[in-house]
Amino acid sequence: MREKVQKLNTEFKHLDAKDVLEHFLKLYIDKIALSSSFGAEDQVLTDMILKIDANTQIFTLDTGRLPQQTYDVMSRTNLKYKTKIRVYFPDCRDVERLYHKQGANGFYDSVENRKECCYVRKIAPLKRALNGLEVWITGLRAEQSPTREETEMLEWDESNGVIKLNPLISWSESDVWSYIRENGVPYNSLHNEGYPSIGCEPCTRAVQAGADLRSGRWWWESPEHKECGLHIKETN
Ligand code: SF4
Repeated sequence: MREKVQKLNTEFKHLDAKDVLEHFLKLYIDKIALSSSFGAEDQVLTDMILKIDANTQIFTLDTGRLPQQTYDVMSRTNLKYKTKIRVYFPDCRDVERLYHKQGANGFYDSVENRKECCYVRKIAPLKRALNGLEVWITGLRAEQSPTREETEMLEWDESNGVIKLNPLISWSESDVWSYIRENGVPYNSLHNEGYPSIGCEPCTRAVQAGADLRSGRWWWESPEHKECGLHIKETN
């Protein structure tokens, strides 16, 4: 499968995001979905995708620790596109076990604790969401962080058994914001307050203008740890 995806990558990487989406949405119909965290890139993709096919699956992972502004943009997005983006929650028993083991804010104590929290609240629900799908659309961009620099438009995700499609991989931040302005796309108001990347409320903070785009995520950890595990690449 890895070789097949590499060939597709060579074939498609020079096409623009909309053309690639049109191709894959038509080919995979109900076996393809966008995962959205309602960040700027995901909002661009939501707009593009629903204009191509209003029935395409879009889902989000509600970790239980999101900022209110994320729920606000979720509501505004549902209203604008007359849709109801599907929400996946963590298993309540896993959250209870996590709480008993590390307390309410244990993720600040160690990388291990933080990864365990991300596993329970994000990765396990993601696996449920991807079950039965063949293509997972994401809003990754290469310039977002050192961990994403070598990401390609199409990748084989071994741990989830899906093709990962990253249509905006070569987009710049200004490409994203031009699209949002030109198309009147709703966006998270935290982006106006110095948050280029938005995740859970206790693990995200505002950054200075010009700072690394993901430096406000898990700011107490070193850059090579700054992924929640959703987008970790296998090396073989
Ligand atoms: S980002 Fe923070 S609160 Fe959210 S799942 Fe990961 S460790 Fe837990």
